[in-house]
Amino acid sequence: MKRFGSSRLQLLGSAIFSEVGQWRREAEAVGHDIIDLGIGSPDRPPSERVMESLAGAVRNPANYGYPTSEGTLEFRSAVARWYDYRFGVKLDPEHEVTTLMGSQDGLAHLAMAVCDPGDTAIVPDPGYPIYAVSLVLAGVTPHLLPLRAENGFLPRLDEIPEQTAAAAKFILLGYPSNPLSAVADIGFYEELVEFAKRRNMLIIHDAAYSEMAFDGFRPRSVLEVPGAKEIAVEFHSLSKSFNLAGCRIAFLVGNKDAVGALRALKSNIDYGVFTAVQEAGIAALEDQMAGSGWEVASVYERRRNIVVDGLREVGWNVSKPKATMFIWAPVPPGWTSRQISREILLSAGVVVIPGDAFGEQGQGFVRIALVQEEERLMEAVRRIGRFLRDRGVGPAS
Ligand SMILES: *Cc1c(COP(=O)(O)O)cnc(C)c1O
Repeated sequence: MKRFGSSRLQLLGSAIFSEVGQWRREAEAVGHDIIDLGIGSPDRPPSERVMESLAGAVRNPANYGYPTSEGTLEFRSAVARWYDYRFGVKLDPEHEVTTLMGSQDGLAHLAMAVCDPGDTAIVPDPGYPIYAVSLVLAGVTPHLLPLRAENGFLPRLDEIPEQTAAAAKFILLGYPSNPLSAVADIGFYEELVEFAKRRNMLIIHDAAYSEMAFDGFRPRSVLEVPGAKEIAVEFHSLSKSFNLAGCRIAFLVGNKDAVGALRALKSNIDYGVFTAVQEAGIAALEDQMAGSGWEVASVYERRRNIVVDGLREVGWNVSKPKATMFIWAPVPPGWTSRQISREILLSAGVVVIPGDAFGEQGQGFVRIALVQEEERLMEAVRRIGRFLRDRGVGPAS
């Protein structure tokens, strides 16, 4: 125990990420040229137009006062127009939209805003780490909902014990999902809305990857389901959709009580996103609505093809995701997630993340992030191929 550090800290985060960092230092020490497919951080810049808008806004002296926690009405109105454009969902920018310093900010605080200590909430396993961490911060008891391959990584809502379902304050899910790269169709959202409505449970949906889908697939919003706004909110982020991860801008939309609760909490914590960044955010959303054609999906679709086709050729049978920047690869027989991740890093110099970093159900998988240029991805696949051959895992003959 550190001298200055709360016991709560002990409950946060997965030790696996620091373990991976340790392996990486070992691999660097033996001279490996590391290809990092670990962290899910976009490697490309935003569009020229968005950077110009930001540069202009940074030079405007009027933009240097405190912003407001909920964001400018201009940004929230652009979000409402984008929601209508993208999903045909009408939102009131005054009450049904709030701006966030990244959706991480919102995900970290929403449980605290809508739950009391001792409440229960339902989160997925595997899941994006802040989902479970936010419950720890809020003193909320998690019910982990297993997401299994045989069900397309969608939850079986009927497996949730009725007592838990009746007591839970919210259910949190995200599709297209990180780390699973699974997708949901409107039928699933309809089922989810019905399930939650019957129990007066809030739905929190994380749609960070809605603009990163392939083969013509267009992810839907849970708010498209009629009546969903009565019980659902949805997170979106400009980090992945527009390569603005470093700018910290995202938003929460939907049910006005839940949006209002997060706003009320955050108005005590922060003063919001730099106004210049909000202007750049408006430019990004407007640009997409104007049909500029700038988008991130095609870049990741090509990368996905290179990695999936390449791994299949060297005998690693991974499935081809319809969205996100991740491959969720089943570990070949004979290894645990951590063993193979460590060996791939130490002998091939490629960083991948053990699936159990995202929850127990992630055991038996590794997450590969498509966050390098095509050349480097090809090199990574070649090295992994050599590694597998040396270990006797070869192409099926
Ligand atoms: C990257 C990511 C986020 C967080 O993005 P921000 O940069 O904080 O907006 C949220 N959810 C998922 C699933 C992500 O992968």
